[in-house]
Amino acid sequence: MTELLVPCQRCHRQVASSRLRDRVCADCLVEVGLADLRKELGRLWRKRERYNAHRASTASIDRQIKRVQAKVAERIESLLPAHPEEWESQFEATMERARADRYDLRALR
Ligand SMILES: [Zn+2]
Repeated sequence: MTELLVPCQRCHRQVASSRLRDRVCADCLVEVGLADLRKELGRLWRKRERYNAHRASTASIDRQIKRVQAKVAERIESLLPAHPEEWESQFEATMERARADRYDLRALR
């Protein structure tokens, strides 16, 4: 069965119409919808590096990071309730983006 392909309003890729929500594709939906949590992860990762550099315990930061990661997973599930097969890959993509954002910040210094 062929599905109608339509362009995502944000990245302009052609995607099956059933994969669009509010006229954006799942990738864009997750990228936009998770911006605040990616920023929060970046902040915690930098904090953990500082603590590590001073040989301080990072146990509480590690717990906070886990909590934010759980929120990331929950939000992805709520954004893509009909596509559980994408949850894991979207989670991985979000972690990669958060890491990339972090290196961008460093490059600005
Ligand atoms: Zn898109």
